[in-house]
This record gives sequence, C-alpha cells and structure tokens, in this order.
Amino acid sequence: MNNTFAHPQPTADGWFGDYGGSFIPPELQTIVTEISEAYDAIIADPEFLSELTSLHRHYVGRPSPVFHARHLSEKYGADLYLKREDLNHTGAHKINHCLGEALLAKRMGKTKLIAETGAGQHGVALATAAALVGMECDIYMGEVDMAKEHPNVVRMHILGATVVPVGHGRRTLKEAVDAAFEAYLKDPVNQFYAIGSVVGPHPFPRMVRDFQSIVGNEAREQFIEMTGRLPDHVVACVGGGSNAMGIFSAFLDDEPVALHGVEPAGRNLEVPGEHAATLTKGTPGVMHGFKSYMLQTEDGEPGEVYSVASGLDYPSVGPQHSYLKDLGRVNYHTIDDRQAIDAFFELSRAEGIIPAIESAHAVAHATRLGADAGGQILVNLSGRGDKDIDFVAEHYGKDYGLPD
Ligand SMILES: *Cc1c(COP(=O)(O)O)cnc(C)c1O
Repeated sequence: MNNTFAHPQPTADGWFGDYGGSFIPPELQTIVTEISEAYDAIIADPEFLSELTSLHRHYVGRPSPVFHARHLSEKYGADLYLKREDLNHTGAHKINHCLGEALLAKRMGKTKLIAETGAGQHGVALATAAALVGMECDIYMGEVDMAKEHPNVVRMHILGATVVPVGHGRRTLKEAVDAAFEAYLKDPVNQFYAIGSVVGPHPFPRMVRDFQSIVGNEAREQFIEMTGRLPDHVVACVGGGSNAMGIFSAFLDDEPVALHGVEPAGRNLEVPGEHAATLTKGTPGVMHGFKSYMLQTEDGEPGEVYSVASGLDYPSVGPQHSYLKDLGRVNYHTIDDRQAIDAFFELSRAEGIIPAIESAHAVAHATRLGADAGGQILVNLSGRGDKDIDFVAEHYGKDYGLPD
C-alpha cells in the first residue's frame, strides 16, 4: 500500500499551529464530526484505498507525467520540470479531491453533493464525480458568474447536475458560498458539502490535502527516477491552496528542498481589492469556518479580491499554508496579471502546453527563480488553459500577435 495518507496531521481538533480549527454552529458541528470520523475509518479501509487507486489509474489517467521543459530550461539556465496535472480527466487537479469526497459521501449514505463554484471549475469537477459515483449534485453559482462562464454551466447540465442561480448581492462567488451554506444547513443529513480546496472547518483542510497528496507522492518518485536526486525547488500557485499542499506535502520533510507558493498580485499589490495575495498582505482571522490569514475589512468581513485567474481570487487560504508561512518552511511570492499572461504565452509557444492562467502564475515564478538562482525546479502545472483561451484572446490577443 502507498503512503498517501501518512502526512503530518493537525491536532484532533484540526489545528495546524495557530490555524484551522472549526468555527461553525453546534448543530452543524455534530455532522462535521461524523464526516471526520467517517474519513478516519475509510482511509484505514483497504477496499476504499484500492477503489480510489483504481479510479486514479483508469478514470483520471494517473499517474500524470513529469515533463522536462527543455526550451524554457535552456532560456533560463535552470532545469524546469512540470508535473502535468493539466492532463487529468477534466483538465486540472480538482478531480483528485472531488473523487475522494464523492466516494466518502456515498459511503456515508448521503444522496446529494452540494458546493458553490466561482468560475465553475470546482462545479464541473464535482458534477463529474457525482455522475461517476451516482449521486445527485447541486451547484450554487452567482448569476454574474453563470453568464461569464457559460460553457462550464452547460458542462454541469450535461453531466446531470443542477446549477442553482444565486441572484442577490453582487451575484458572484461570495453570495454563492452563502447560498450553498444555507442550503446545507437545511439538510446536512442527506447532503454532503464538498469543499473545493484545503479550506473550511476541520476535517476539510486535512482531507482535501490528503486527497491531493498523490500529486506530490507521484512527482517526488518520478523526479528521483528521472534525475537521480530531489529538486532544489518546488513551485505551485496558491488560491485556496490545494494543488500547492498536494505537491508540497511529499517534500515537507526534505529539508534541502525549497518550497515556493505563488499568490496573485492581480492589478496592484498595494491596493486592497486589486489582488488576492492573502499570505503576503493578509492578517489572521476567522472566515468560512476556520482561522487563517485572510484579506479582511476593518470589521473582519471577507475583503474584496481580484485576480485575472478566477481560481485564485479567494480572500483566505488553507490553514496549513498559514502555519508553514509562520514556520518559514514555505516561501510565498506574488506574480501579477501581466507576468502570468506572459508565462501563459511563453509556455504555450516554447513547449506547446497551454496552461491554466492559475498555473501560469507558478510558471512565471519558476522562470524568475531559474534566472536568479538556477538549479532544478519542479512546478505543479495545476491545470490546462482550454477554459481561458477565449478570455485571453479577447483581452490580451493583440499584445501577443493574435489576429483580430
Ligand atoms: C481552482 C484552481 C486553482 C486554485 O485552487 P487551489 O486550491 O489553490 O489549488 C489552481 N489551478 C487551477 C487549474 C484551478 O482550477
């Protein structure tokens, strides 16, 4: 059996140092404690682990390859390697935890998976997992996001999910989170709230991290097989922090391996609301059921956030990242919109790989790091850019020589 689930654990109450925990109403705590216990039980169950392993191989297409990006390596004077999560079924790392959560929910006898979605990526991955395991699926989505991300709405419909429009407030992610939470409170017995990153109350930060740790476990082994050694640097973008925790978790004990999380500086790192660099600019606080660094208003409400990559614009971050930041084990950096779009085109044209704009943030930092320090750099390429091509062509095409 692999060691997928043998990682440093939070305390029994879900604390990573000063961060994490569970800040939810008592009636919900009972249910969430049941989820925690059910999770502990399934990860000790060989039948569950072999089902998950089989789905990884035959459904997701794991292991995803590690690719040595030769042209970028030559250009920057460093060896750049890409962990190809973009090649997974559904095009990103999100399927890793959605599958795990769906299997757990099914085992617990739940009938419906629910979640909110912003750009629709989490919604599509969860609707996919729901179809596979045979569960109903309700995805809450702001009306503004539904109009903007129409293809993902259609995908969810085709997959048999219900997309519930959220029409109040600014009609985007924040309102969708509230609506999904409200719906969950109405029937937490039959519904399972599938959180989309390493955030939320305990046990979600741990559980989602564990489900994503396959990325790091595979990559570490693949990297050693390819090069005979460990990388000097591991780089990943950080929104909620799941793809980063997934790849970092396998290297936390490898002291010589430097770990780099990359946050979005958006349009302007110095102006609140113009970026989503939570660890770089935030302060500790409680939001969405857990304590972590967050971008907050003066009265402790979630602050406005922005990034060209909609998967990165979350005003908090997984508690383990906050812990690792304070420990100094992971360094957090920022990349702005323009640098990310540059990297988007550079990777497309140098290697024939169109990355998600989220992942392009990690690529941009990796090339900067390579130019500065050289060495062997492993980048988590969290997703593919198919979802982004129309947006990029419309807003940036001219600057990069695309015809009108
Ligand atoms: C959602 C998403 C992210 C951000 O989420 P994390 O939890 O920080 O990993 C990054 N990359 C891609 C491709 C995504 O879809």
